[in-house]
Formats: sequence, C-alpha cells, structure tokens
Amino acid sequence: SKPLLEVDDLHVEFRTGDGVAKVINGVTYSLRAGETLAVLGESGSGKSVSAQAVMGILDTPPGYITGGQIRFHGDDMVTMRESTRRGIRGKRIAMIFQDALSALNPVFTVGWQISEMLRKREGLSKKDARERAVELMDLVRIPAARQRLKSFPHQFSGGMRQRVMIAMSLAERPEVIIADEPTTALDVTVQAQIMDLLKELQRELGTGLILITHDMGVVADVADRIAVMYAGRIVEHADVHSLYASPAHPYTIGLLTSIPRLDDKGKQLRTIRGLPPNLTQIPDGCPFHPRCQYVQDICLTVKPPVMDLGDGRTSECHFSDRILAGEMSPNPVAD
Ligand code: SF4
Ligand code: MG
Repeated sequence: SKPLLEVDDLHVEFRTGDGVAKVINGVTYSLRAGETLAVLGESGSGKSVSAQAVMGILDTPPGYITGGQIRFHGDDMVTMRESTRRGIRGKRIAMIFQDALSALNPVFTVGWQISEMLRKREGLSKKDARERAVELMDLVRIPAARQRLKSFPHQFSGGMRQRVMIAMSLAERPEVIIADEPTTALDVTVQAQIMDLLKELQRELGTGLILITHDMGVVADVADRIAVMYAGRIVEHADVHSLYASPAHPYTIGLLTSIPRLDDKGKQLRTIRGLPPNLTQIPDGCPFHPRCQYVQDICLTVKPPVMDLGDGRTSECHFSDRILAGEMSPNPVAD
C-alpha cells in the first residue's frame, strides 16, 4: 500500500531569545495504514516538533517550517490551501496529548464534553450525540459507559481520562493518530493498558499510529518500526526487532541500556552521560560526539552520512557497520 503520511526532508526552526534553534534538520519518515511508527528520543530531540508541524501547532515559541514536505495521500500539506488543510488536521489526522486532565474541562461532565464536540463537529442532535458518545466510550473500553456519561473528569482515574481523550480523537475516524507521550503521566500498569488499547484500536480500525515517546520500554510490544531522533535528525531507523536485538547507533545503545527494569524498582535509573545539545549551537561533526562512548577523531569534524544497513535500516554514525559486526567496543569512561 501507498504511505498515508510522508514527512520528507523536513526542517523546522524556532526563534528563541538565544537565536535560531534548528529543531528539525532534515527528517524523513513515512507511515502506512495499520502501521505503528515509534519516534523516540530525549526531550529536546525534536520528536514532538515533527508531529506539531504535521498538526500545524508550532506556536510556542513561534516555529517555522523552513524546508521539506509533509505529504498526506501524496498532497503536500505545507503548500496546500488552508481550507484543504483544515479538512485533514484534527479529522483525518488526529492527535492525542500527554496531559488528559488539563485537556478536559473540570466543570462539565465527560458525557457533555464528548457530546458537545460531536454536536459542533458533526451537527448531531443532543440525543444522537449522547448515543455516539456512549459508542465511543465503549470503543475505548470504558466500563458502564452510559452511566459514566454523568461523571466529571475528577471522578475518572488518570487511565480512564486518557481513554476519554482517545475516544474524542477517534470521533472523526482518523486515518492517522499521532500520540505524543500518551502514557507518561500514568503509572506503569496503566501505561501498558493504554498501549494495549491503542494497539487493539489500531487493529480494529486500520489506523496508522505514530507514537512519540522518550521511553523505549513502552514501544517494544507496540511499534513496527522505530525512528530514533537526536538533535533534530533521525539517527537510527529500523524495524523494532532489529533495533532491540542489534542497535547500530551508539545513541540507541545508550537508550537501550537506560531502560529501567521492573525488578530494579527503587534502584538508580541509568542514563546517557551528558545532555542533549543546545539547538542554537549544534556541535560540529557528529552532533552526538560529546556524549558518545564510541567517539573517534573523525567524529569531531565530519558529519556522519546516512548509512544504509540493508533491510530498510539506516543509521547516521561513521561506525554503525562495524558496531553491527561486533568490531567496536565502547571507550573506557573517564569519570
Ligand atoms: Fe559516536 Fe562517532 Fe558514531 Fe557519532 S559518528 S555516534 S560520535 S561513533
Ligand atoms: Mg515533547
């Protein structure tokens, strides 16, 4: 099948007090119906910004698309007419955010909020909107949906509120759902339930899903492919099995070794040394070199090209082929 959504050589800049931050520096990915792409990275990697560009919400601070295309069914959303774009965003492409509590209004019942949205968007009568709200709440497995229409947001658990948000995002039967850290505010058990729900809904509805997260632990069972972002580039892109079994980029290796294990509860979370770069001053050469355990002289000055590793895998590291061949070991840590 043809891709639903193609982000092609996208560039996004933000004007900040410190200068121009190059937040997305040539990002390319695509999504087909029924497929899940996880976009993974630390905060500041640009993982949310590409999604915000798709949704047209690059507004805090003001962000600008400075190059590239975002094609939906082959049509470039960057250059299409605003009226055409409005028929896509929030309808054929829907977004689910992290913070369900602040997205719901505390003074109205959940049923009223879903119904009002349906009445505004679809012009349904009160009664029809209520019936459709029950259907949507059933769809996201909210028990006793009809009775729960009368509940207020604070009477729902965090997980149930996130289900309400998912229900609202499904109202227009979107072809693509973009979920930005949809489970970060929830505890681990509930995270797994929401991930399972998203996966089940995707199977039932044939939706394409883009899952944006900093947490490698939540995507392993859900994603088909993973794009790992660093400093506004996709530094590794692979199917989920290859990426977990044999990561090719040192940053991916770092992310994998920093997954907290369930049986380690309370023990220190391992993280990658150092911090992501200031995007107004991206380091020369490989942007990851100040933090990389495999760094060599060439990395300080020469930007690694995209390396094709076969089977649709790519990586941006001078040594990915040698890492995969087991010919590189990390430099001793000097601290
Ligand atoms: Fe590390 Fe060099 Fe590879 Fe960059 S190019 S990830 S610095 S080894
Ligand atoms: Mg984010």
